[in-house]
Amino acid sequence: MKYEFTADFAERADGLDALSHYRKEFLIPQHKNEDCIYLCGNSLGLQPKNLKANILKELDEWGKYGVDGHFDAEKPWFDYHKRLLGPTANLMGALKTEVGHMNSLTTNLHLLFASFYRPTKERYKIICEAKAFPSDNYMLESQVNHHGFAYADAVIEVSPREGEHTLRMEDIQKAIDDHSENLALVFFGGVNYYTGQLFDMKSITEWAHDAGAYAGFDLAHAAGNVPMQLHDWDVDFAAWCTYKYLNSGPGGISGYFIHDFHAQNTSIPRFAGWWGYTEKTRFKMEHGFEAIPTAEGWQLSNAPILNMAAHEAALDWFEKAGIQNLRDKAQNLTGYLEFVLDQVSSNHNVNFETITPLNQRERGCQLSVLTGSNGKELFDFLTEEGVVADWRDPNVIRMAPVPLYNSYTDIYRLGMKMEKFFES
Ligand SMILES: *Cc1c(COP(=O)(O)O)cnc(C)c1O
Repeated sequence: MKYEFTADFAERADGLDALSHYRKEFLIPQHKNEDCIYLCGNSLGLQPKNLKANILKELDEWGKYGVDGHFDAEKPWFDYHKRLLGPTANLMGALKTEVGHMNSLTTNLHLLFASFYRPTKERYKIICEAKAFPSDNYMLESQVNHHGFAYADAVIEVSPREGEHTLRMEDIQKAIDDHSENLALVFFGGVNYYTGQLFDMKSITEWAHDAGAYAGFDLAHAAGNVPMQLHDWDVDFAAWCTYKYLNSGPGGISGYFIHDFHAQNTSIPRFAGWWGYTEKTRFKMEHGFEAIPTAEGWQLSNAPILNMAAHEAALDWFEKAGIQNLRDKAQNLTGYLEFVLDQVSSNHNVNFETITPLNQRERGCQLSVLTGSNGKELFDFLTEEGVVADWRDPNVIRMAPVPLYNSYTDIYRLGMKMEKFFES
């Protein structure tokens, strides 16, 4: 794509974009009677217009059937959760027997660790990325402490090299090699929340397995952002939230993945509950847990139908648009953002440094930009002008043009607002 920083170019690019019609399926927050320039889908995705009706439908069913809705509702609640498996499997490159939905992300990570982090005196170390999302860090700290290990000894953080912002794959590989004798688990984000770096999950998984360790991923910033092949890559387990790129509402239900290889193995230790129990005999309510031999065998509680109704409606757009098409558009649109930022910085001699990898294969749709000394003033000005982005101290602005609902015109308008700031 040959970019230009003009209204005409943005309009033409939107006209040629085969996915542009999805924007009207979302509620765009308003600012002074205009659409906000919403670049925060990496934090909370926008509301799909079909979502409310899908929730209201289940409220109606509850009103109409009471408890009998479990079997008599048009979409019976007893196995409502299965409606999510097909679309989620397509999205994550998984089998339907490898995915499930329950709780929230951090909770699910703890539950997955109960199965996949069972350290011994010899093998107890976890390799992760430095500056992981804080909740992941607290999760890791409390997990190793729970097993009687000290964070400083048990958790190996791979850091960027001096003067660099992102991780080098060879440094991840080296850390795995260096600790292979004591390694229990390699646990990484799919896309780092701060830098937007997309990790090569396939290689990380291979290296972890070569070292005799499991590979698990937090896919909060990867799900709905980049195509994945969790099954083919032999990833052991993963979990993600659904309120970021997946647009399923604040605190929405979390998804999880357990490779078939493990999911079929009902003897893997886990923290169990009745919704993971074999369906045929579940309601006999007998002692002695018998796991469903799929990822569903990790479910604890009966399904939160209203959250699942939200997620079902939101997933529909990924089924319709296709994650690979979304990825293709995201690369063009994020490339346009990069181009516009370059134009603004050269027009006004300001120093924006993109800390997200410039190589498109190493990033999703987020750009994190180190701003100069007046970065916070710029950010506040943009906020006043109806731009919704994200500020991280000391001076990083994170922006995520989301292919389902952001347009080239959004990016052009953003650039013009930046021009206005630097001209004033
Ligand atoms: C957003 C995010 C979370 C949030 O966890 P919740 O349990 O859903 O509150 C956790 N980890 C990562 C990497 C995230 O990006």
